[in-house]
Amino acid sequence: MGRGKNFFKVKKYLGRILLVLTQVIFVWALYTTSFYENSSLSILHYLRASAFCFCLLLQACQIRASISDPGEVRQKSIPLKLLLFHEMYDRKCRQCNSWKPPRAHHCKRCKKCIFKMDHHCVWINNCIGALNQKYFVLFLFYLLLFILTVLGIHTIGICDYFMRSKRKILSIIMTMTITKFQIYSILVIIFCFTIIISQMLLNQITAIRDNQTAVESIQDKFGRQQFFVNNFKQVFGDQEWYHWLLPTKPKLKLNYAEIVYAQELDNFDTEFVEDILYDETNPANIHFAEFMLDNYSKQKQ
Ligand SMILES: [Zn+2]
Ligand SMILES: [Zn+2]
Repeated sequence: MGRGKNFFKVKKYLGRILLVLTQVIFVWALYTTSFYENSSLSILHYLRASAFCFCLLLQACQIRASISDPGEVRQKSIPLKLLLFHEMYDRKCRQCNSWKPPRAHHCKRCKKCIFKMDHHCVWINNCIGALNQKYFVLFLFYLLLFILTVLGIHTIGICDYFMRSKRKILSIIMTMTITKFQIYSILVIIFCFTIIISQMLLNQITAIRDNQTAVESIQDKFGRQQFFVNNFKQVFGDQEWYHWLLPTKPKLKLNYAEIVYAQELDNFDTEFVEDILYDETNPANIHFAEFMLDNYSKQKQ
């Protein structure tokens, strides 16, 4: 028992260390762009300013994703109105004893049920769920822009240096200095990161398009099929477009009543059970806001 506890403690600290380590790497990557500050090429100055902005944005997104509530389910019993459909909704989490909406999943690392849990991210040191997925996607997006900008700065800077230098290219490459060592290291890191981050971003875009979390994709299930813009607003919030680009809190109207569907129902003409349960134009119907308010009032108590 004691060993298990220690193991979780080590994992907890490891998560924090990874988070700080990645932030240090971003700042260092930004610092390496200063090697060309004496260059006469104006494009390098514009790119450096862009890299600085991307770095600030990605750090803000990473921190917000890390400290935000990913969508913890605090409801201990089935909401009264859903009791009527209880064979579909009567589920309790065996680990944390919470009522478990169909699209919630228990995270063993966080020890709680998370609504629309996608995965537990070690780089963020938090779960990625309904309430913080926006920050995570933006983090990946700005990280990709940042590393591509840094790559552009180094490529242009190195070419410019070679063109101005009268020495042979091979002899320049072979003589090692601390500056060159840093440039080589950052290029290797950028190469690895570009592949990993592009793949992660693509996975997230696919998850939003299909309204399917990583957990549901393993279980071969998915949320209701609807147009991309509706799925997008479920993650990025239904508000002015510029909020979609900033790490501001998304205005979300999540639906605890939403159920997960089997693959066979995958078409746009299907009548969804939620449509019957859940009609915004009819106030007599079940509305998510009630559950969400319940949840937040419990959080404050
Ligand atoms: Zn649970
Ligand atoms: Zn977690």
